[in-house]
Amino acid sequence: MLRIALIAHDGKKAELVSFILQNKELIEKATLYSTATTGTHLERAGLESKKLLSGPRGGDAQIAAMVATNELDLVIFFRDPLDKHPHEPDVQMLMRLCDVHDIPLATNHSAARLFIAGLKALGKL
Ligand code: PGA
Repeated sequence: MLRIALIAHDGKKAELVSFILQNKELIEKATLYSTATTGTHLERAGLESKKLLSGPRGGDAQIAAMVATNELDLVIFFRDPLDKHPHEPDVQMLMRLCDVHDIPLATNHSAARLFIAGLKALGKL
């Protein structure tokens, strides 16, 4: 089972929910983790994930730690570059650790679409 983390800044949560609805096989074929509020939005659309803390309260840091300890295969993080975020240092840490540990990180819709297509082509999804 692939292990995938899902995070979306507030301005991008609806977009992430619709992305997962369009790629429902992720629900069956992957273990999904999410930051708390993103997870609640997914839940309202009938999509289950294992919820961590909310991003500003440490959820991004939890996902960063999971990246560092080899507990994730992919991070999908729909970032909103047009808004300010109190937990920006945690976001930077998460992105850095994805690079340190060579874990794929999709930071927008188009990248996520390509990653999922790549995983399907590789027979991993
Ligand atoms: P949230 O966190 O899903 O709890 O809103 C996302 C984020 O990192 O902003």
